[in-house]
Amino acid sequence: MDGLALSQEAMSDAAERVWGFRAFRPLQAEAVRAVVEGRDSLVVLPTGGGKSLCYQLPPLLTENLTLVVSPLIALMQDQVDGLRLNGYPAAALHSQIEDDEQRATFDAIESGELRLLLVSPERAVTGGFLSRVRDLGVGAIAIDEAHCISQWGHDFRPEYRRLAELRDRLPGVSMHAYTATATPRVREDIVEQLGLDEPEVLVGRFDRPNLTYRVVPRVRVADQVAEILTTRHAGDAAIVYCMSRKETEQLAEGLGKRGITAGAYHAGMSGEQRRRVQERFTTERLNVVCATVAFGMGIDRSDVRCVIHASMPKSVEAYQQETGRAGRDGLPSECVLLYSSADAARWHRLIEGSAFEAGMDEDSIRPQLDLLAQIRRLVSGARCRHRALSEHFGQSYDEPGCGACDVCLDEVKPVEDSTVVAQKILACVARAREATGTAYGAAYVAEILRGRRTQKVVERGHDRLSTFGLMNGARKEFIVSCIDQLVDLELLERSGGEYPVLVLTKASVEVLRGEREVELLAPPQAARPERRRGASEDEEPLAPEEHEVFDRLRALRRRLAEEMGVPPYVVFNDATLRDMVRKRPGDAGSMLEVKGVGRAKVERFGEAFLDELQSA
Ligand code: ADP
Ligand code: ZN
Repeated sequence: MDGLALSQEAMSDAAERVWGFRAFRPLQAEAVRAVVEGRDSLVVLPTGGGKSLCYQLPPLLTENLTLVVSPLIALMQDQVDGLRLNGYPAAALHSQIEDDEQRATFDAIESGELRLLLVSPERAVTGGFLSRVRDLGVGAIAIDEAHCISQWGHDFRPEYRRLAELRDRLPGVSMHAYTATATPRVREDIVEQLGLDEPEVLVGRFDRPNLTYRVVPRVRVADQVAEILTTRHAGDAAIVYCMSRKETEQLAEGLGKRGITAGAYHAGMSGEQRRRVQERFTTERLNVVCATVAFGMGIDRSDVRCVIHASMPKSVEAYQQETGRAGRDGLPSECVLLYSSADAARWHRLIEGSAFEAGMDEDSIRPQLDLLAQIRRLVSGARCRHRALSEHFGQSYDEPGCGACDVCLDEVKPVEDSTVVAQKILACVARAREATGTAYGAAYVAEILRGRRTQKVVERGHDRLSTFGLMNGARKEFIVSCIDQLVDLELLERSGGEYPVLVLTKASVEVLRGEREVELLAPPQAARPERRRGASEDEEPLAPEEHEVFDRLRALRRRLAEEMGVPPYVVFNDATLRDMVRKRPGDAGSMLEVKGVGRAKVERFGEAFLDELQSA
């Protein structure tokens, strides 16, 4: 570069020419500049924040080679395929590359044509590679998913520990680390382990404004999930996270009975079965997957419109990461958590159980229980979800209302006369126990309050309690939800193993005596359609006739991708197809106006898409 004078214009031009990107996302320009100017850097951007561009763009400007270490072979190949379609010279080296392809790669390096070389961490630290790397003309080293270097991260990989050796072999070459993991401890670890030299640290905002968060009391999982998927996300890509393997299978089956084709995915399936589900999902032949958290790493479908948690995840970090798989293309997407306070009790038992098996003591599970308490506070409270999440990650949130969460959308309504409702429930829990000397679970207490003369209620004489029928006419779900909230407020305690029962706490007495007010939230009857504040035009839903065209373009995209053996988003992503539907380009020139369309793609796909638009 001319005296390091890197103009904003040169950067924007390249981003537009190759990728068709109109503008940089936050911190991308700064991150590119650090690489071009040869300063070490640590870039922390949330999932979907656009980290790849930060290391893909600079070598086009400096005209040398950037070496990228990336942990997942599957994603590496997709990235290379995607770049090549954009006319960007990139290649990968890992265990599954054939010898002659490898030779071609080294030839391309020698002739100075290659700009990006992706290597697996295993390959990067082999003696053969290290002895050769000095001759490759490497201008910068990029470490993707850099948190893999830290034991404090959620995905530790021992090979990452040796990556500093690369630097030793390439003195004077700048090194750049990229991650979505925000905790300070992991960040420090990355800088130290890689030996980054006074790195420029760029930390992006963790808030994901295009995601709408909802927490909904769980009543009947399969019905609720089916309703969300059919009313708001018909035909969309969606992931439903479940707590256990069995639940993924049951739910997939339950959805099938309700007319929604869904796959199950969990670590108990064979590698082959899992690959098949993953592949069908990536190639858009399957849109809904019920999965344990094993599903996600390595899935790069950027058009996931909906992530549902069938139960509460075990930490805010896990929640952020799993919901982060929605809307990576920046378009509005929804995250729904179906919550019951019983989830917390279940996690508690699981954590205790595995500690017990591992022969660990009570103290060792403290950190995990703390994480559990944090997520529980977040989901059971009625504070703006965007604000609560941002603050959890140490970032302030200044918007008065986000317009994109159940709280700010006013879907969470206080229960009228909350304190009286709480008193009725607490009194019923107390009376039922006094009458028989036994404690009961939430569902049963709800039956008494609703005045149901079920066989058990009559046998136990609970139909003669003063609290029998006190909440006549209330829905069972409503009462159970109130009970859940009382548990979260520590005004009731759930105790006992598989069938937990309710007992009063010290604080319950204050409520019963009228010394303490309670605020309860009404479960929503049915969630309303999205309406986001400040939604820009391309976020507005497509009109029905536009949707038809969109679907045709999507089908074309799938055919082309299948022919080439690449995932569909590599051809064009959803945002690009939507813009194409809106702009309806009639020739190659106007095709270039469409967001996400660069020259190489017009040459390659322009005609096919123009034809499809013409006939639509
Ligand atoms: P990350 O690695 O941070 O999770 P990616 O690099 O995979 O994110 O980018 C996520 C998505 O955003 C991709 O579909 C990518 O094409 C798109 N993207 C990245 N930068 C831009 C930009 N400046 N403008 C528009 N889209 C972008
Ligand atoms: Zn909000």
